[in-house]
Amino acid sequence: MNEEIVFCDLGAQLAGMRPEIERAINEVLDSTAFINGPAVRKLEDELSDYVGSEAIGCASGTDALLIALMALEVQPGDEIIVPDFTFIATAEVVALLGAKPVFCDVDPLTYNMNPECIEPLISTQTVGIIPVSIFGQCADFDAINAIAEKHSLWVMEDAAQSFGAEYKGRKSCSLSPVATSSFFPAKPLGCYGDGGVVFASDPQLAKKIRMILNHGQNKRYHHAVIGVNARLDSLQAAIVSVKLQKFDQEIQLRQQVAASYSRFFEADLHIPVVADYNSSVWAQYTLQHPERDAIRDELQQQGIPTAVHYPVPLHTQEAFAGIAGKTECPVTEKISRQVFSLPMHPYLPERQIEYIAQAVLQAAGK
Ligand SMILES: *Cc1c(COP(=O)(O)O)cnc(C)c1O
Repeated sequence: MNEEIVFCDLGAQLAGMRPEIERAINEVLDSTAFINGPAVRKLEDELSDYVGSEAIGCASGTDALLIALMALEVQPGDEIIVPDFTFIATAEVVALLGAKPVFCDVDPLTYNMNPECIEPLISTQTVGIIPVSIFGQCADFDAINAIAEKHSLWVMEDAAQSFGAEYKGRKSCSLSPVATSSFFPAKPLGCYGDGGVVFASDPQLAKKIRMILNHGQNKRYHHAVIGVNARLDSLQAAIVSVKLQKFDQEIQLRQQVAASYSRFFEADLHIPVVADYNSSVWAQYTLQHPERDAIRDELQQQGIPTAVHYPVPLHTQEAFAGIAGKTECPVTEKISRQVFSLPMHPYLPERQIEYIAQAVLQAAGK
């Protein structure tokens, strides 16, 4: 193909909204309110309306997880159940607070935490569960919330990849009392740097989260609790506000890209499965194949970028040696050897989808 194929084409997205983005950036420059400016409050109001739960902007998806766990008063020695198959941040923040991530296996079709694997992992030390809504679709929250309720645990959705998705008609980030998301540029709703958000349905908890992300401050230079600096800056907030206006349209475009891919692959390959109660925002379009590495090499030679989310089960990461207990996650071990993701963004042209799909089928010997 004589045009470049981009894994996640932020340039194409910017081209379609550049004047609005520049106007928003210039407004912040003119205001000089770079920290906690009106742009942050405006975005928080828009996000709260979108989800139906109070939004608190913060510096990244990782900080969102961290400050939410601090607000939940996670203590050293606490155990928190997290999926084995996710980005490191979900479990990293647990370990950072001296608590223990307990790794739970996932469903081989949706890649989300398998509710049936949760109960055997619960101990007297367990305080909560962090289901990740991975690759764009929500975990099975009704099942997970029921288990949590039975054992008096809290639930916090890591929605870094699923903002905008729906579960049984309810929005991702409204399915648990606390939820977090990320505005990392390549996420479905991204900014132009680092950014994140926490959603909290309880106003008391929301207030505490706001304090923690601003040095535990309840009034200038009065510090009620130990906090951090994890504020969302005004420039990033202004950028997300502009992108939010086109977000639902972009979700539809992503869904069309996914449907096109799947039409090419459904007869021959293990295509992504969206649970019938879910709508996905397609953070990734991920296939499974035993010859994954050879297929990726072949695609790379044809100018097609691919990625592996995620090649290493978290319980086998060196960083968790001595922290994670003995865990058995056979599904994660298998899929981490077989998954690979194809270029996915709202502006992927049909001709590129067709070119990629033909190359994948050929590389897979179909
Ligand atoms: C991206 C991601 C994060 C971290 O978000 P950042 O904004 O990069 O800190 C956390 N959890 C999951 C599942 C992610 O995909």
